[in-house]
Amino acid sequence: MADVSLRGVKKQFGALSVIKGVDLDVKDGEFCVFVGPSGCGKSTLLRMIAGLEEITSGSLAIGGQDMTSIGPSERGVAMVFQSYALYPHMTVEENIGFGLKMTGHSKALIAERTAVAAKMLQLEPLLQRKPGQLSGGQRQRVAIGRAIVRNPEVFLFDEPLSNLDAALRVQMRTELSKLHQDLKATMIYVTHDQVEAMTMADKIVVLSAGQIEQVGSPLELYHRPNNLFVAGFIGSPK
Ligand code: ADP
Ligand code: MG
Repeated sequence: MADVSLRGVKKQFGALSVIKGVDLDVKDGEFCVFVGPSGCGKSTLLRMIAGLEEITSGSLAIGGQDMTSIGPSERGVAMVFQSYALYPHMTVEENIGFGLKMTGHSKALIAERTAVAAKMLQLEPLLQRKPGQLSGGQRQRVAIGRAIVRNPEVFLFDEPLSNLDAALRVQMRTELSKLHQDLKATMIYVTHDQVEAMTMADKIVVLSAGQIEQVGSPLELYHRPNNLFVAGFIGSPK
């Protein structure tokens, strides 16, 4: 089980209070979307779940286990960033397997998992190319492939589609939803795009200035917003 649970989570950067007390339960296998305006703390919250940022106070558990003293690589999470940060001199195949190679996995295991991920992401014909020979959408698939081969229980996505053009974003939304069905993993997905949130989420968390405004299904938020902020945010398409 890989449910994610936050209790009274706060984050300070010096005097700046960025996350102001977040209580949240993401269920095992759920597709949960964090949405809110730029600067409201979405990435900070995600990075705390990933273990890339320390929690100032409060607690975080994944699969019922307290994460206070568990490092990023031991949490069973994998993060996909907005900037894909692929290694330009390596092939697609090498990029996908690199993390596993660094953690000392066997060549056979790396080859097997890379093949599975490549099939899932339709990257099979591109495995010997370098990132410079790929389109934006293909590069983003490679970045997702790197996460898949680690077999995480929890996927963390930080605005993974925001560098793609509109048509490709629509296509990738469908592909990510399919991936979620196939893998049955818990996914936490950050976006500032209301349409992405409405179309992909089981559960939406609306954030504003470091606090949760409302949590609910897309339909709940659409029909019964708690306040004008949520109504304005979910109600106004881009
Ligand atoms: P979002 O992802 O919703 O756009 P962020 O989580 O990136 O928001 O940032 C929330 C706030 O925290 C912003 O005001 C940002 O400037 C601040 N912030 C983020 N990271 C740091 C940091 N390492 N040091 C100081 N301030 C930070
Ligand atoms: Mg961000």
